[in-house]
Amino acid sequence: MTTTYDPNDPRYLDEADVRGELTRAFNLCEGCRRCTDLCPSFPTLFALLDRRDDRDAGWLVPAQQDRVVDGCFQCGACIVECPHAPSRSESALDVPRLMLRANAMRWANGHVPLRTRASVAVAGRTDAVAAVASRAGAVAAAVAGSAPGTLVRRAVEKVAGIPAQRLLPPVARERFTTWFARRVTVRLADARARVAVYPTCLVEYQRPDIGRDLVKVLEHNGIECSLAEGAGCCGAPYLHGGDVESFVQSAVRNVRALSAVVRAGRDVVVAQPTCSLVIRRDYPDFVGGPDANLLAAHTFDAAEYLMRAHAEGESALDTDFSGDVPESIAYHAPCRLRAQDVAVRSRDLLRLTGATVTVVYGCSGGEEPWSGRARFAGWSASMSESLGRELAAAGTVAAGDCARSNAAVESQVGVVARHPIQVIARAYGIPEEP
Ligand code: SF4
Ligand code: SF4
Repeated sequence: MTTTYDPNDPRYLDEADVRGELTRAFNLCEGCRRCTDLCPSFPTLFALLDRRDDRDAGWLVPAQQDRVVDGCFQCGACIVECPHAPSRSESALDVPRLMLRANAMRWANGHVPLRTRASVAVAGRTDAVAAVASRAGAVAAAVAGSAPGTLVRRAVEKVAGIPAQRLLPPVARERFTTWFARRVTVRLADARARVAVYPTCLVEYQRPDIGRDLVKVLEHNGIECSLAEGAGCCGAPYLHGGDVESFVQSAVRNVRALSAVVRAGRDVVVAQPTCSLVIRRDYPDFVGGPDANLLAAHTFDAAEYLMRAHAEGESALDTDFSGDVPESIAYHAPCRLRAQDVAVRSRDLLRLTGATVTVVYGCSGGEEPWSGRARFAGWSASMSESLGRELAAAGTVAAGDCARSNAAVESQVGVVARHPIQVIARAYGIPEEP
């Protein structure tokens, strides 16, 4: 049994070794039980262990271990306060990374069913699928816009595993990079900083409005923007599904493109938590080397970057909010920003407006295609519903950085949460583009 999260370790994909490490981890969790309802993994584990008086994870058979692993959708929440985490204990337990290792081992050893492999292959080609969808125009828009529960949505559920009751992410009529290329180039002679915006699939194809507001807020504060050219999907769907080989291909391409941007003097700004987490945590692990480490050190979440500029720059951010400032904001701190220890940056940014900001720490469980699996759809729906209710109770306006989580909450309880950057844009008086 080897405690390693290094995919280059020769034992990384060794089944007996991984299963021994799962046993060690599950016994640590049994003795701790701090994580109870973060996701289905822990309740599944504890229910299995409680069947025996000795509660020893060594009795679990591979199929039972796999049931625990299947419940993980890589939110990263369990590492945030884990007493056995590598930074706090010699136990060096990193459950999210161990779950990645277990999935990679199962993929490499042929334990992943064909249907699941096919869905990971589709999800991993986010760029290609989204590009086709955006070219499909009216058809894609009609599918995306079809009401939850309709015949069209039940067909989508059969093909793609996305629950019929959930709102589909919209397919934008204009991609973010198309918008950026057609606008008048903004060159700031006295720019306080220059950054490259990496839109990632979600902003590029589905929520370019987030990217547009991000660029405008950055420029409003004297930060010049360019596009992070040559990078595609971060590769998260491949990694979370266990297809390490395909993930590494995506990661190597992105590290090459984005590290060149950094070497040219620009930090990389990302507006989605999953993508920034993958760049900072997983590219150094799976690609490694000076370029991956350089990129990880110069990649920032959008609010994190702005608050860093506010604290360290020669002049603070503009705090003259003459636009639409909500009285109170319920801010959802996404798990994957908490895993990067930067969720409070969005809270602090929102507080600059003068609004009262209440932080809500739940999880929507809205990760696709995980939430579409029959075993987890109920879990996901109840997580989204409870998060939505908390947000509705905590402020007059809801905000959250994770677009997938926002969509899950909206479809479950109708609460509309906007990206914090969009709340800031409106507070500055920057109008929303139609
Ligand atoms: S992941 Fe860490 S905090 Fe959670 S139950 Fe296991 S040992 Fe405890
Ligand atoms: S990373 Fe998230 S989903 Fe995975 S085991 Fe930890 S809390 Fe559960």
